[in-house]
Amino acid sequence: MRVEDIKEDALENLRSMPAGALIKWAFENFKERAAVGTSFQLTGTVIIDMASRHFKKFRVFTIDTLRLHPETYDAIRGVEKKYGITVERFTPEEDRLRDMVERFGEYLFFTDRAKQEYCCLVRKVEPNLRALKTLDVWITGLRRDQSGFRKTVPRAEIVEKDGRRILKLSPLADWDMERVWRYIRENDLPYNALFDRGYDSIGCIICSTPLVKGEPPRAGRWRWFNGEDDKKECGIHVKGSGSGNGG
Ligand code: SF4
Repeated sequence: MRVEDIKEDALENLRSMPAGALIKWAFENFKERAAVGTSFQLTGTVIIDMASRHFKKFRVFTIDTLRLHPETYDAIRGVEKKYGITVERFTPEEDRLRDMVERFGEYLFFTDRAKQEYCCLVRKVEPNLRALKTLDVWITGLRRDQSGFRKTVPRAEIVEKDGRRILKLSPLADWDMERVWRYIRENDLPYNALFDRGYDSIGCIICSTPLVKGEPPRAGRWRWFNGEDDKKECGIHVKGSGSGNGG
């Protein structure tokens, strides 16, 4: 099957499939040209668990910004051990990273939104684009209730990245956090220990912090920008960010 052959009626069909069936369909039809892209939030692990029920080998990749929490690296190792898989790691391009740090410093993301987006571009978005070049189907753990910006996330859509069409699936788009936790607990899945310490959305050190009771899910991300708006994105999932430029 080719992504070019998937028309709107087929997309509609995919959007109506239960999560497990959608993941199975993706790996059955696209094999190693399909992959789960995850930053090891809870949904990523749920998707990996669902895939493991049908396949012994399947692709999982993550963007290692080189600034992840130690607990996130532990979570990656925990998943690799449980499922007998090797998570593919895509890291920032060395020269570009060095140039950024020399010009703006290690903590440029505090300066303003543009510098935060530039840091995310170098550390996350560009490595993610490199990952996307290796696949046709990108399976993500996005959920609609994570923020206003994500509330229209479709379960299946065609996106353009670097002039190529990619089928992007978000099988858990309509799940809420309670359902995600229920699946994690009922199936005794490994998860990032930071979730037990108040974190709800986990990215890089400093840029992701625990929530205070009552805060919306992504309030802990780039906390110093709270009050501007809730478009708190690194660019990985922003439409049109494919050419210039996770989590
Ligand atoms: S989350 Fe922070 S440290 Fe990580 S890439 Fe984005 S701005 Fe840089």
